[in-house]
Amino acid sequence: MILVTGATGHLGRVVIEHLAKEGDAGQVAGLVRDEGKASDLKAKGVDVRVGDYDDVASLDAAMRGAEKVLLISGTEMDAAKSLQQHANVIDAAKRAGVRFIAYTGRAMRDPSATETELMRRHFKTEDLIRESGMTYALFRNALYLESIAYFIGKGRSHPGQQATFETDIRLPTGDGRVAYTLRSELGEGIANALHRDGREDHVYTLTAGEAWSFHDVARALGELSGKPVTYTSTDKATFEAQMRERGVPEAMARVFHGFYRDIHDGQLDEVTPELEGLLGRKPASIKAGLKALFNL
Ligand code: NAP
Repeated sequence: MILVTGATGHLGRVVIEHLAKEGDAGQVAGLVRDEGKASDLKAKGVDVRVGDYDDVASLDAAMRGAEKVLLISGTEMDAAKSLQQHANVIDAAKRAGVRFIAYTGRAMRDPSATETELMRRHFKTEDLIRESGMTYALFRNALYLESIAYFIGKGRSHPGQQATFETDIRLPTGDGRVAYTLRSELGEGIANALHRDGREDHVYTLTAGEAWSFHDVARALGELSGKPVTYTSTDKATFEAQMRERGVPEAMARVFHGFYRDIHDGQLDEVTPELEGLLGRKPASIKAGLKALFNL
């Protein structure tokens, strides 16, 4: 039996959907914080287990009978707390005799060069997994293509509401490129790997087949929408002023700047054929991804 954490999240749902489609849904369990959000999973025959990364006893109970665990990184913004949460899951898996653990982290060229603690905690989690002695798969996921809606989305889009985009894009990302991947394709690829893997350690870097800058994003949006879309790279001071104007707290603005800095510095432009290998087809291009994201 495989236990997937973050089962009511975007990535967890896709992984579970593919695992359940391929095999016996009864052999798939999902860790959820809120059982009320898991009725669709129950309807598919998924074994829903309630637990929280902060609650060690709940994790011990949730691990019963699990041979494999997929730990989906949590949403805690304090990097030290987040790492402790991941350690709680890894330790509980080990105590329960789980033989194979997988983790969804991030693709990054040089983790020692990032300014963002939240990025570093992914690699610290990987270290904990290596030290655990369990067989492992580490999925280093590229930046989600869906993140573009947060970077250049206009206003706040609510569930069911169509995201729209800025036509005058201003970000401190220079000519930095990103091998954006769709969350749906990452989830499918990860599920395929989980079916297959278990006996040997694997490290996957899951990216698109190309990397794109915001010049490319602006061009693709212009072609798809028929509207002129421009991109201007800004400096740090301009970005900080923009954040202050929008009322973004300073600590949060620093975190955002760290993400953009990684893009600017080419940390996210690595391209590998590994996601294509797991999917058996080419991952979506930027144009196809943006078309779906903004319903163009
Ligand atoms: P998501 O939709 O926010 O899902 C996160 C899942 O983690 C949710 O199911 C959430 O539970 C669960 N979770 C959070 N804290 C937990 C805790 N203390 N105990 C138990 N479960 C907890 O995120 P996603 O889109 O699926 O992405 C998965 C992860 O990738 C994120 O959590 C984040 O670490 C990382 N991420 C990656 C990128 C990228 O570009 N590659 C971008 C953003 C985030 P609830 O459903 O109860 O909230």
